[in-house]
Amino acid sequence: MSTVKAFAAAEAKDTLKPFTYELPKIGNEEVDIKVHYCGVCHSDLSMLDNEWGMTQYPFVPGHEIIGEVVKIGSEVKNVKVGDFVGLGWNSASCMHCKTCMDGDQHLCNSVEGTIVGRHGGFADYVRSHWSWAIPLPNGIDLKKAGPLLCGGITVFNPILLADVKPTDKVGVIGIGGLGHMALKFLNKWGCEVIAFSSTPNKKDQIIAMGATKVINSKDPKELESIAGSLDFILNTTNVTLDWNSYLTALAPKGRFHTVGAVLEPMAIPAFSLIMGEKSVGGSPLGSPALTSTMLDFCVRHDIYPIVEEFPMEKVNEALQHLRDGKARYRIVLKA
Ligand SMILES: [Zn+2]
Ligand SMILES: [Zn+2]
Repeated sequence: MSTVKAFAAAEAKDTLKPFTYELPKIGNEEVDIKVHYCGVCHSDLSMLDNEWGMTQYPFVPGHEIIGEVVKIGSEVKNVKVGDFVGLGWNSASCMHCKTCMDGDQHLCNSVEGTIVGRHGGFADYVRSHWSWAIPLPNGIDLKKAGPLLCGGITVFNPILLADVKPTDKVGVIGIGGLGHMALKFLNKWGCEVIAFSSTPNKKDQIIAMGATKVINSKDPKELESIAGSLDFILNTTNVTLDWNSYLTALAPKGRFHTVGAVLEPMAIPAFSLIMGEKSVGGSPLGSPALTSTMLDFCVRHDIYPIVEEFPMEKVNEALQHLRDGKARYRIVLKA
């Protein structure tokens, strides 16, 4: 195997077409993965459309990969040929800076994205550095695990960063691809979980995902009814909301954490933070070690995203389904 059969866009917003490319000789620390499943994430669309100005064409999306190791470089020790691994948004980091040595490889200054300047997982094979080829725990459901590698770790990391306790009362804003996984994690963590949704007609589904209560985020009265009660709020939306009303919902010492990449500056009144010693934070993804811990937690508690499966050949239909806002709640391509 050195010719990879992939699906690529020739320019921004183009449909994907079959595309082949040659892999150079494998590096000492690299791993080649045969793709079995690959999730479709909003970031694939953002990159396809060059929203962040860093896309190189031809562009092969795909960064929620579940696959089998088929070749390893001479220095690779964490996986062997035949192992099943997951590969997410990141696929390499320097492995020698202080941040990497601290185990925060996802924050390394030279961290490399799986679909940034390299070809991703909408393909039969994909290559990464060994450190981001995460061995999968026994018993994991390969069909549904892909989205955990990007969306899943994105909402799992904040639970540890914000030191959320099982006794905490918490809130999740936005019950979509990210938010529904956050509800499941926080429910199994032991928390009382409030879901903030602008479509409360999904209430029964949202309760089934692990929320104890659904608050209509469009109704200021409902938001006021929980003022001062939440220890932690996770925002998964990327639109501007009335942030102060959420800060008001926090209990003293409460933490507001965003993983939604809100493009406009967020208006945070200092007075809301000062009175009550509240804090605001954010985070991207998580480290390989934490990703591994998360996958063990998922197997132990049977936590998976709700997925819709498309065959890889129907990748353009799958992307359109996501563009139309119809994904319930994550899409996975089967190779
Ligand atoms: Zn993603
Ligand atoms: Zn580094």
